[in-house]
Amino acid sequence: MNVETYRDALVKKRDEIIEAGGIKPLQASMENNTRQGDMADQATGNNEVHIALKLKQTDAKILQAIEEALQRIDKGTYGVCRDCGQPIAAARLNAIPWTRVCITCKEKQKS
Ligand SMILES: [Zn+2]
Repeated sequence: MNVETYRDALVKKRDEIIEAGGIKPLQASMENNTRQGDMADQATGNNEVHIALKLKQTDAKILQAIEEALQRIDKGTYGVCRDCGQPIAAARLNAIPWTRVCITCKEKQKS
């Protein structure tokens, strides 16, 4: 399993949600009014947390799950089920790269 593939998918999905939500970068808000000119071209990279608050709840939940998945990639625990500790099937990760649980545990939650 190449986690970098999933990282790319997660980042792409995150960007999609943010764009679909019509969220403007924080650079437009008061916090950065003093950072015009030369500084304006530099990305801060810390906007995600603030952006999440403005989204629909569903999207916000997915965004949070994506952030957590990215953290798990960094920690090297990505692709392991939160509930049972077993590896999550690649097919499931391909479909929902931000999932926290394997299909078996997901089915248990539904019932
Ligand atoms: Zn499980």
